[in-house]
Amino acid sequence: KANRKYHPEDTVIDLGGGALVGGEKLAVVAGPCSVESEEQIVGVAQAVKAAGAAALRGGAFKPRTSPYAFQGMGNDGIRLLQEARAVTGLPIVTEIMSTDNVEMFEMCVDVIQVGARNMQNFDLLKQLGKTTKPILLKRGLSSTIEEWLMSAEYIMAGGNEKVILCERGIRTFETFTRNTLDLSAVLAVKQLSHLPVVVDPSHACGKAWMVERMSMAALAAGADGLLIEVHNDPPHAKCDGAQSITPEQFTDLMGKLGTLAPCV
Ligand code: PEP
Ligand code: MN
Repeated sequence: KANRKYHPEDTVIDLGGGALVGGEKLAVVAGPCSVESEEQIVGVAQAVKAAGAAALRGGAFKPRTSPYAFQGMGNDGIRLLQEARAVTGLPIVTEIMSTDNVEMFEMCVDVIQVGARNMQNFDLLKQLGKTTKPILLKRGLSSTIEEWLMSAEYIMAGGNEKVILCERGIRTFETFTRNTLDLSAVLAVKQLSHLPVVVDPSHACGKAWMVERMSMAALAAGADGLLIEVHNDPPHAKCDGAQSITPEQFTDLMGKLGTLAPCV
């Protein structure tokens, strides 16, 4: 179902409220790694909306490497995202970790993110195939393009054809960057499939100063959108501060991208 052979036209997906990904405009999803407080998420939402973002991201259930690290605000985080949506009108994108939450996510959020670590959680993918919400499917830490597309296929085979692919860097021998952004994968999946593709330069590089140039590179590679971590106070972020840009830097980036391509 994801194969372009049987579906030659590009698929366009509504993130919610008419914000499209896969169309002519670049769709930029922005927000903090994690929801931390009402003030933080509403403030960042207002700033990224003013800069032209198409949707707000924010993690409430976090897949942290260490069990002692901040695990996210859980249900309270979802409630705060809904509040940020009510204030700004931006659709909300957040990561699901457990099959127990599928029904709640279907009810409460606009786009359900499957994180890199769950890309091959086949039970979760099957259940998401029964939902009606767009699924943002991140590429697994060490997944091939074929494995990634097969995960999309799991969701689509269940009946939900609204899958957005997200390249977020892969594991290589290099340690200077958090991951290695595989921009050639954007071209590959766009040739093989009709699904929209977004690039997450934040998790790919792990360094805020690289986000601007890698966003431009993603645009040049043909990405349909970007997923960018934006935090009001990166040095004090509970998660992924080193790769988060400030709302001011985000506004500046959107201005620069706007001169290269039409932004939402
Ligand atoms: C995230 O988007 O905050 C995240 C955890 O990303 P990934 O699954 O790509 O590591
Ligand atoms: Mn993050």
